Amino acid sequence: MPNEYKHFINGQMRDSLSGKTFNSYNPATGEVNGVVAEGDAEDIDIAVSAARNAFEDGPWANMAPSDRMRLLNRAALKLWENAGYLAEVESQDNGLPINETKMIAIPAAIDVLEFYAGLANKIQGETLSSPGNRFNYTLREPVGVVGAIVPWNFPIMLTMWKLAPALAAGNTVVIKPAEQTPISVLELVRLLHEAGLPDGVVNVVNGNGETAGAALSSHEGVDKVAFTGSTKTGRLIMQAASQNLRPVSLELGGKSPNIVFDDATVEDAVNGSLFGIYFAQGQVCAAGSRLFVQESIYDRFMDSFIAKAQQIQIGDPLKPTTQMGPQVSLEQLNTIENYVAAGLDEGAKLATGGTRTHTESGGYYYSPTVFEDVTNEMTIAKEEIFGPVLSVIRFKDEEDALKKANDSIYGLASGVWTNDIKRGHRMARGIKAGTVYINTFSMLDATAPFGGTKQSGFGRELGMQAMDMYTETKNVWVDLSSEHMNWYGR
Ligand code: ADP
Repeated sequence: MPNEYKHFINGQMRDSLSGKTFNSYNPATGEVNGVVAEGDAEDIDIAVSAARNAFEDGPWANMAPSDRMRLLNRAALKLWENAGYLAEVESQDNGLPINETKMIAIPAAIDVLEFYAGLANKIQGETLSSPGNRFNYTLREPVGVVGAIVPWNFPIMLTMWKLAPALAAGNTVVIKPAEQTPISVLELVRLLHEAGLPDGVVNVVNGNGETAGAALSSHEGVDKVAFTGSTKTGRLIMQAASQNLRPVSLELGGKSPNIVFDDATVEDAVNGSLFGIYFAQGQVCAAGSRLFVQESIYDRFMDSFIAKAQQIQIGDPLKPTTQMGPQVSLEQLNTIENYVAAGLDEGAKLATGGTRTHTESGGYYYSPTVFEDVTNEMTIAKEEIFGPVLSVIRFKDEEDALKKANDSIYGLASGVWTNDIKRGHRMARGIKAGTVYINTFSMLDATAPFGGTKQSGFGRELGMQAMDMYTETKNVWVDLSSEHMNWYGR
């Protein structure tokens, strides 16, 4: 019998008011991983009012910033104690190889919590320069109730990117996890609560995007909406939040260029580019899915790249030797297949992969795929596939590389491989993207602001910048003059 999971509202596990449930699948086997309460607008209502009450009144609302810092640090310790367990739950939930959850996703998430815990008592307003008869200052206050809508590729980490700064600033939160991966987020929140987070501060409502997600993003009781997901859904969320003129931050899709110059160290560029596209089975919004290789090293680079792509160990995500697990869902697998068909149709050359694999397991596995002879006009160069499919494009020189790299509706991340320091920084200025990696790819750090330009969204998560999204600036004026102003009695 699969485990049953409920919503987590006001410190308690709750069924949906409707009594409805849905199945969450293990992508490595296709079997049911859990039966989960399916929330609707009415469950969102209850969670938002629990978050509102916790924000306005009670222990959280009255907690000193230093106590908030201590509590969040205690929560982080609790998560470190359970990091191995969380990694396993997450790998089972979404198919990420255990090494990637254990060594990257979970530690990175806890690091983010610690970073913002440390900021909880360092959120400061300013004393403004004003004439002697006036005192003018700013307060930085929490925005209120935050609605966080998160995707399935890194459920715990991407939840934490919203949760940690929101909590450090004193907000309360309602999370709507992706319907494919609700379990690890529920376990995360259960542990936070066990560490002492007061009731109602963090709530989780499971369910579908069109119902629970839409209700959360258009809810009058939500003061800010934070979203990570597809560009298509980002558009709907912005529309929904516009009903109440609520601010949104959108971290959306990408088709990130990764540019290899002939003066790069080829082995490093090959290894980094492999990680850039195949990390997490290509289900990374910042994946380097358009690889630009300079003509003069093209054959040498690609021979090595393809040989190494073919050696990637695919298999059970819970096995420590596995380098690529299954895609998250059957639906996602079908999407990938359709894109590969479009690539072939439009004349790209399939250099390796392009097939389902390990089908006997019942899981949703796909082989590392490389398309060569791709042009920016092809569907596989324009649209985000969110799978292990790389589109390789040749370029002549720096100018050509920059032109081709920027020719995209997206602007999330980018990579440049070169040993010419000037060229690296020139490219960093020229590329239109939120992040530029030079001689590396897919790095993340709690201190480093992350987010997109163009249709990759707006707002910066992580770093000091994220605090701006979770605080409101209030300006306070005080008259210090001994005589009262009497404008009309002049
Ligand atoms: P994908 O298409 O890969 O599942 P989405 O961007 O649709 O990616 O999903 C990311 C998150 O957005 C999920 O939690 C999903 O349930 C939610 N979502 C999907 N549609 C909507 C919507 N119309 N309103 C609010 N949230 C949504």
